Amino acid sequence: MADEDVRARLALFEKLCREHRIACTKQRRAVLEIVLARDDHPSADDVHDAALLQIPGISRTTVYRTLDTLVRMGLITKACHPGRAVRYDRNLAPHHHLVCLACNVVIDVEGLELGAIPLPDVSGFGFVVADARVQLRGICRECGRSTGQDSEPAHR
Ligand SMILES: [Zn+2]
Ligand SMILES: [Zn+2]
Repeated sequence: MADEDVRARLALFEKLCREHRIACTKQRRAVLEIVLARDDHPSADDVHDAALLQIPGISRTTVYRTLDTLVRMGLITKACHPGRAVRYDRNLAPHHHLVCLACNVVIDVEGLELGAIPLPDVSGFGFVVADARVQLRGICRECGRSTGQDSEPAHR
């Protein structure tokens, strides 16, 4: 994320805090900055570990609540992957995820073709689809290297 995008998101945070009468505390700002600085979709525990370095003694509960507040404010999003801890995402644009089964890394992928996959007709479930995200699970490049498997196709 470019510096100017980080600055713009922090400015939006301050504006929204004023509008919603939420205190623009040092803790909240630090938690937001930690998520914005990372492209690895940290879990709440990852954010807590990083926050402790900046704000000694900050509780896990404070970090969890702050993350929820930031999600409600629309400043970050939650990426939920079944069976895994919730991960937090600084990327607000529509995108999809590559999830490594070995190291749990979550990589953003913005592919028009993924967004164009035809969806099944679920109207029979009385379910209204608001959004569809594709999650591709497998082995990332780093893990593929370390296990001797080649995760990249040799030929196209
Ligand atoms: Zn991996
Ligand atoms: Zn993402």
